Amino acid sequence: MALFLTLMIILGLCLISTLAELQRLEHSPNADGSLSFLVVGDWGRKGAHNQSEVAHQMGRVGSKLNINFVISTGDNFYEEGLKGVEDTAFEESFTKIYTDKSLQKQWYSVLGNHDYMGDAEAELSSNLTLKDTRWLCLRSYIVNAKIAEFFFIDTTPFADEYFTIDPSEDQVFDWRGVLPRKNYTSNLLKDVESALRASAAKWKIVIGHHPIRSFGTHGDTQELVEQLLPILQANNVDMYMNGHDHCLMRISSPVSPIQFLTSGAGSEAWICDAVLNRDGVKFHYPGQGFISVEMTQTHAKVVFYDVFGKVLHSWSASKKLLHSSWVSNLLLSCNLTIWLLLLLVDSSNPQPGVLKLLLKSMGL
Ligand SMILES: [Zn+2]
Repeated sequence: MALFLTLMIILGLCLISTLAELQRLEHSPNADGSLSFLVVGDWGRKGAHNQSEVAHQMGRVGSKLNINFVISTGDNFYEEGLKGVEDTAFEESFTKIYTDKSLQKQWYSVLGNHDYMGDAEAELSSNLTLKDTRWLCLRSYIVNAKIAEFFFIDTTPFADEYFTIDPSEDQVFDWRGVLPRKNYTSNLLKDVESALRASAAKWKIVIGHHPIRSFGTHGDTQELVEQLLPILQANNVDMYMNGHDHCLMRISSPVSPIQFLTSGAGSEAWICDAVLNRDGVKFHYPGQGFISVEMTQTHAKVVFYDVFGKVLHSWSASKKLLHSSWVSNLLLSCNLTIWLLLLLVDSSNPQPGVLKLLLKSMGL
């Protein structure tokens, strides 16, 4: 009997652990293993603020690259998300805007803070997918596309400001499925960490609505800098893509190969305070636009476009070189550490020549 109960408890724990894992979806790459996709954020304004013009250029670039899918970095419907699954804003801001043939592909979306100001669960509902088969929005999930794995993270519950906001400010958030908040965010971080650690994909790309690093109006999201960034850095994430700041931006990290890409310019655009070549800023643009990404096993190319489809900035990375440069840096710092340790050993050792012998034995 005791054995049976123990087995039942273990089975139960396994079931809970399975249920807690992030949902995993598969997306086949091209026959040669390559992938291309577009990234757009902060867009749903029924065509206003140049949303339609950006959509038109996305169609043109999408056709040229024969894209596999589109990523939305959130704030999908302004100002206050959807009122419900029957809200016509879904058709007016999505179905009737992104009409180009090349955009009739799967869209992978996350929720933004504005989506939480409406009926958040409506955006997550499969009823919307019945209306438009391109639509897919979940809270947090993984898309496995063989050479790359995409980790979509629900970032809004991390930001303290939405939980301390004065109700008189007329901002009400739909926290169904999120509370208790600390459980939600800590479980999510654990799931993301274990999924990243288990990933064997060549490229690891993380998507969330809120920026980790940004010089836009909102700037860095300190909660993500403290809680999420260490996990991404420890697991060799190549790119973090976000919206929220209504601009285009690329920032590199001084301590890891991760690139911070902001694509939150699908409609209304804001100014940004970035200074080129300062604090890792490699590119910034305070106007409307979007990003395209092309990937193979060894190379990635990220291109930023404006509302006219003009190429503003292009960045290419070699996976081997990208990481080998970081390995070189790491080895260099290890060598420096060894040198320092040897100097300490030598200065405290009464026998001369220990340093020389050790260096020789290590081939240094
Ligand atoms: Zn936002």
